[in-house]
Amino acid sequence: MAGIGYSDARRAAFDAAAAALTQGQGPVQATRAAIAATDTFFAMVSTALNLEAQLAAMACAAGCSWCCHQIVGITDAELALVAEAIAAKPAKARKAIFARAKAAMARGKGMDQRQWWAARIRCPLLEDDGLCGIHEARPLPCRAHNSADADACRRSFLGEPVRTPVLAAQQGIWANAQAGLAEALLQAGYQPRPLALAEAVLGLAKG
Ligand code: SF4
Repeated sequence: MAGIGYSDARRAAFDAAAAALTQGQGPVQATRAAIAATDTFFAMVSTALNLEAQLAAMACAAGCSWCCHQIVGITDAELALVAEAIAAKPAKARKAIFARAKAAMARGKGMDQRQWWAARIRCPLLEDDGLCGIHEARPLPCRAHNSADADACRRSFLGEPVRTPVLAAQQGIWANAQAGLAEALLQAGYQPRPLALAEAVLGLAKG
């Protein structure tokens, strides 16, 4: 894919989010637009780099959630999308999410990423069945996570010093897309603060 790089992922997300904001749409729609543009960009890169075989061999599957025990860095706009998804749930499910966020932050407040992972603190949006409770609205870093070896993820989760084989292109594209989204928000006059997902979800509970 000569001439295509991560900066193009950033540009694609920026352009899509900026267009949404210019049309008077808010951060939620801007985030959705950035996600859609990045999905399209990733599909184009997958074809250009012949990644289909690698993607088919990825270990990630519904119910596998080792990677959902990390601090997830998000923007306000991604939080707004998450908040919308939580608000659409029944009261009992919302209450459970906020209770899990409270429990997560009671253990994890002040921890860095390494400490959080070692403490095996679940994302409050992770349901008991191992599924993401807001899958369609999950933040961009969650879309970056991938692994070619679920057992390596499990062993890492259990504390073994193991390297998990990943598809670097997927990580790089979504990381750059998040940067593009943040730039579009900044250009439109928003101040996209870096937030930690679990703490931000607890903030939603407090209103
Ligand atoms: S938002 Fe969903 S995908 Fe992301 S860490 Fe939480 S449970 Fe996992």
